[in-house]
Amino acid sequence: MTWCRFSSGMPGSGNRMEFDLIEAIRARVDVARSDVALGIGDDAALLDVPANRQLVACTDTLVAGVHFPAGTAPGDIGWKALAVNLSDLAAMGAEPAWALLALTLPDADAVFVEGFATGFAELARAHGVALVGGDTTQGPLAISVTAFGWVPRDCALTRSGARVGDAVFTTGALGDAAGALKMLMGGGSAPAALSARLHRPEPRVAAGLALRGSASACIDVSDGLLADLAHVCVASKVGAEIEADALPVSPALAASFDAPTCRDLALSGGDDYELCFTAPAAREAEIVEKIAHAGCRATRIGRIVAGSGVRVLDANANEMEIAHAGWGHFSR
Ligand code: ADP
Ligand code: MG
Repeated sequence: MTWCRFSSGMPGSGNRMEFDLIEAIRARVDVARSDVALGIGDDAALLDVPANRQLVACTDTLVAGVHFPAGTAPGDIGWKALAVNLSDLAAMGAEPAWALLALTLPDADAVFVEGFATGFAELARAHGVALVGGDTTQGPLAISVTAFGWVPRDCALTRSGARVGDAVFTTGALGDAAGALKMLMGGGSAPAALSARLHRPEPRVAAGLALRGSASACIDVSDGLLADLAHVCVASKVGAEIEADALPVSPALAASFDAPTCRDLALSGGDDYELCFTAPAAREAEIVEKIAHAGCRATRIGRIVAGSGVRVLDANANEMEIAHAGWGHFSR
């Protein structure tokens, strides 16, 4: 329901424009699933949840100028709006299934919507996610996606299971997206390998599934490693030590910035969408192999200790001063 629909002054034309936009989205995001009893078109979707599974639900909003710079390609916005949600499902060890899309648009811009839907559809197809409904309304550009998946009962990965003596791991490499953003904000352009990580993050869904039964705690790194690992520590009532020299940095990032800057981006830059997880240290080899099977890399970066908070250690095991600890909304 909206009090201000897309209108061109003609009675009823607002509804027609809204319908056309919804149809443009529906036609492009064409993933069909047998568990969708009723999708887009009625007042709500009807979905069949498999027996003995728990439904996993999450939602994330992207606001123009806050989560992506003005001028970002519509297809990249569409991809990322879904990716950030699939990353949350991945962090729970969930298998993604369905999504809802709430789109707030300044005007009925068909070119934007078609580009957006094309990018959204590329990622939805890659993960077999059906778009089952949403809302389309007028206002400052913002996109909310709600995603649903499932886990076998009591098998979800959570933030609260880290134990003293566990090792801390991350998938992939850290700091690439923040590095790309830093270059773009500085008025330059970023190497393709870095800008792809900013605009088209690959949610670590297969890695999350592989970690079920192996990881003791898991979180996706969206606000920076230090900030997100701190959430695990609070939820698990433990502390963590990270070895600065163990942080995985991509060749593209290492070629673009000096080592201290790479380290700061890896520790505190946002938008990585890697999984940071903990597991008993003795399972390292098994975990590295499982994650490799899932098509990515796992690196041991530190350990869980008694106490609280996250400390970063240099090569001599001395604590390092770190300037800022991640991206937070409402923080300034
Ligand atoms: P209502 O007024 O009952 O909320 P709408 O006219 O908003 O219905 O939506 C009609 C149908 O289109 C619903 O099934 C809704 O889920 C779907 N829908 C609306 N906007 C979107 C969107 N951006 N993406 C996907 N489905 C949408
Ligand atoms: Mg509606």
